This record gives sequence, structure tokens and C-alpha cells, in this order.
Amino acid sequence: MSSDVKAAVPGTPGWAAEPAGGGFTTDAGWLDFHGAPVKPSYVPPPGAVDAHCHVFGPGAEFSYAPERKYTPCDAGKAKLRALRDYLGFSRNVVVQATCHGADNRAMVDAVSSSNGLARGVATVRRSVTDAELAAMDAAGVRGVRFNFVKRLVDTTPRDELVEIATRVAKLGWHVVIYFEAAELPELYDFIASLPATVVVDHMGRPDVTKPVDNPEFALFEKLMADNPQVWSKVTCPDRLSASGPPHYDDFVPFARRLVERFPDRVLWGTDWPHPNLKTHMPDDGALVNIIPRIAPTAELQQRLLVDNPMRLYWPEECCSKD
Ligand SMILES: [Zn+2]
Repeated sequence: MSSDVKAAVPGTPGWAAEPAGGGFTTDAGWLDFHGAPVKPSYVPPPGAVDAHCHVFGPGAEFSYAPERKYTPCDAGKAKLRALRDYLGFSRNVVVQATCHGADNRAMVDAVSSSNGLARGVATVRRSVTDAELAAMDAAGVRGVRFNFVKRLVDTTPRDELVEIATRVAKLGWHVVIYFEAAELPELYDFIASLPATVVVDHMGRPDVTKPVDNPEFALFEKLMADNPQVWSKVTCPDRLSASGPPHYDDFVPFARRLVERFPDRVLWGTDWPHPNLKTHMPDDGALVNIIPRIAPTAELQQRLLVDNPMRLYWPEECCSKD
């Protein structure tokens, strides 16, 4: 039985982060999710999707993985749903957090208990069986995530990743890929050749202290321009910005560039509960307030927050325009 079945409203006492349960110890210096996010002044369009967020445990119910590189606070599904409602969103996409390794139980539980209002992205190994994939598909999982950020995971051989991508593509799933900008030249051909739709996390982590027209980001734009199966999440100003909160001014031109150039292949998400941050914890309401600056028209906002995520995660409910 989850300890957080009752949803507390963000900012109320029951909302506050709790240390990892189940005999785990939250890392010293761990930054908890924001205790009192502002109610955003920007109101998302009806049916908006937070297309990148996570759950952590709770550890007493869903143990953290032995191979994890961080131990977080607990942040379970009830809090995630409370935040979704508070921020004015209707649905969300729960991405497997690396602290759970390839044990997808917490994510699958959050998705399968959502009344169809959540979808999931899993981490799987080559050893995953077809029956396990089918069970996750039935629960609402629609993608797998490949992580190339070395401080977060140990590297998986590429032939294994291609094999996994080929198998999940048959289910209609996509591949979410996470890497740092400096890795793109080396990963470019691999990403372009994957036999599935590819969603890049956090714009491939550009250096936003540079002008938006810089060679590294130009290569990322070329990847998207030349490969119509490649999408990007315009997420995580808190991880990328040097100018910092609450406005994250240096992040905005990069996200806006992708939203305006590739309006049908961009997704937005909070990244709550913001794994493994080192500098500051963003106010989730302030993150929502950035949306009109990266998607300056109602039409772009509709695509970013509703049409695109619905097409990718709930195609059976949408896509009359396609
Ligand atoms: Zn994330």
C-alpha cells in the first residue's frame, strides 16, 4: 500500500518531500522538489500534457535499484497527479527514472492506475521478454529510454540498443534518448539510423550560454531537419540555464527555435521531481510561465502541449488532423 495515496495540494503541509523510505537514505545534499510552487499565471490549453516527469518510489513500496547513481527523496504518483492538476495539465508521461534502473514497477504503477491519463517510458534490457513488453504496453507504456549520460548510467552496447529499438517499434513505441551536446557528433549516425521514432530529451543539452546560432546547436537542428522521425523535448531550463530562475532567459531562444522550426515534433514537460539537481530547485509554476515565451502563439502552444503529445502517446484518441 502506497504511503501517498492521498493527494496533497502543492504548497500545503502534506505536499512536502519525504526522505527515501524502505530503509534507503536520501543522498546528502539532495535537493527536494519545490515545496510551494506558484500557481502559474499562464493557463495551458484544455487537454495539455506534461510529457516529461518521473516518480521516485516511494522506497518502502518500490525499492531503488542497486545500480543507481543517486538516492532521491520519495516522490510518488499521488503527488505527481496533484501537481498535474495544480499546474493546469490534464495528462502526463512518466519517464523511468535512473534511480529505479530497469525495474519499471513504480512507473508502471503510476501509469496503470491513472485512468488512462498517463503514459509511460520504460528502461529495458535485452533480456526483457515479449510477454513483459506486452504487459507494459497494456499498462500504457509507449517508449523506452536510452541514456548516454555517463554520470547517470553505465553504457549499454549499441547493438543491444538497436535490438531493443527494433523490438519495441513493432509495438508502435518510440525511443527517448538522452545525451550531452558534446556527444552528438559521435551519436549522430546512430540516432539517425534507429528504426523507430526518436525523442531527444532536453534538446540534447545545448550550451545555452552560447548564441543560439552556434555550430553545436546547428548540428542538432540538422539532425531534426534531416530526420523527420526525430522529435525534441524543449525541457529543463533548470539544468541548462546559466542565467537561472525564474526567467531562464538564456534557455528561451533555444527552445523557441525548435518550437518555431519544428512545431509538430516538440514536447514540453516539467521534469518533476527534478532528479539529481545540483544548483537550485525550480518552481514548477514558474516553469509553466515560460511556455508562452518559447511557444508565443496559441497555435504553437496547442501543438506543443496537446496535439503533439496526443499524437505520440494517445494516437487512438486524436489525430483527426492527420
Ligand atoms: Zn527527467
